[in-house]
Amino acid sequence: MPQNKIYKTVRQYNKKPLQTEDMCKLQEIARDYAYVKNCTYQRYSGVGGLLKIYPGYTVQNEMTKSGIREQVKLPSVYFYCAVFEALGDIKTQWTNTKSSVLSAIHKNNGFTPEEKHYLRFVIKTSGCFDHVLNGKKIAIPEKMEETYDHIMAALGGSSSIEKLNKYLCRQVRKKLQRLQTDKADGFSLTERAYRYGTCGKEQGIFLSTKESRKRMFISLTDNNAYDRQLYIRLKPEKCGIEIAVPIEQKIRSHKDYTNETGVSLGMWHMITTDTGNIYGECFGQIQQELVEYVKASDQTYRKEKKNNAGRKKYKAHKAKLDARLETYVNQEINRMIAEEKPEAVYLPKFPRNNTKGYDKKVNYSVNVWKKGFVKDRIKQKCLENSIKYIEVTGKAISTECSRCGTQGKYQKDIFICKSCGYEDDKKTNAAKNAINRGRLEQQYTPVVH
Ligand SMILES: [Zn+2]
Repeated sequence: MPQNKIYKTVRQYNKKPLQTEDMCKLQEIARDYAYVKNCTYQRYSGVGGLLKIYPGYTVQNEMTKSGIREQVKLPSVYFYCAVFEALGDIKTQWTNTKSSVLSAIHKNNGFTPEEKHYLRFVIKTSGCFDHVLNGKKIAIPEKMEETYDHIMAALGGSSSIEKLNKYLCRQVRKKLQRLQTDKADGFSLTERAYRYGTCGKEQGIFLSTKESRKRMFISLTDNNAYDRQLYIRLKPEKCGIEIAVPIEQKIRSHKDYTNETGVSLGMWHMITTDTGNIYGECFGQIQQELVEYVKASDQTYRKEKKNNAGRKKYKAHKAKLDARLETYVNQEINRMIAEEKPEAVYLPKFPRNNTKGYDKKVNYSVNVWKKGFVKDRIKQKCLENSIKYIEVTGKAISTECSRCGTQGKYQKDIFICKSCGYEDDKKTNAAKNAINRGRLEQQYTPVVH
């Protein structure tokens, strides 16, 4: 991933339910896809595979010659996607294994600093780690030779090296997990396997199938077309699919964004800042409309279960209300960022038991509208604008006095501190606490991973 880019996922959905026959064809591709992934795991996820997976051409060539593709009759566009996806998983698995072995070494007090140095060197140098694990002679890259000689001299003797190598093999055997997938609910496909277009009056996507030259058409709810690797998740229970599209986004950075903004989220007013500014004033109201619509429709639905036309209408209207709320949330977060110009945004984590204390009505709307959505959007917008996003401990944040730190009380929307006499809007006080705690905890997540 390039340094100054981030990705977000856009999703597309089928417009009409898929025919059973078509769904079966897609499920067959998904099953074969999983099978090819498992074959790749089996052959290359072990210690022996280490010599072949970087950069991966060997794996590609060997898999081509293996005859597996001909055996399952999977179009090559899907076949290679499956191989590369599995290869990616294998590489990730090795990264994780190495880092957990490194941490075991770090914690082990039985090693001298020189021994630790040697082990770290072997793990991090290509031509060393894979060779040691496979019982081969270490191949030191030329530019590392001097470092290696130094380490050797400090260790004194090849018997200790043998002991250390054995330790490494044992640790890897212990930490390396067998990769295997039982899921066959989707697959990736590159541009060569699909085409966006129209069929009759419908806009949608044509997918390669296992029958040569026969593409399957699926109408979509939007008219967007993309030109990158997609992931198709099958939803057989809904006779539908979901297409996940990774969208690259440039990160903007703003020299004039220098403020620290504490934020408190609410069900009614979406965002209250530490200076008392409110964004998303109509959040609760729009949400309420959605809740009431769902509630009313639920009652009619219970009464007349066979009314399919009514259900369809309901779904369409609900989707419209959902989209309206989503747009509103995005708009208001953008406005917050543009006006507050923050360098860092602090907000409290949700308490673990967060249903306590809310009344039932609010609780119901929490279920309808995913609570995490607003937070996820704030996080994403912060990423896009190079703003630090910092979550702080949320425990008792609304009852703490942001001026003196003692626990106070709030009545309705006003926080009152008996200890120092501080009085403020409850949400503003909580947002101030978010900044205070953030500075104290220093719990920030880096802007770019
Ligand atoms: Zn106080």
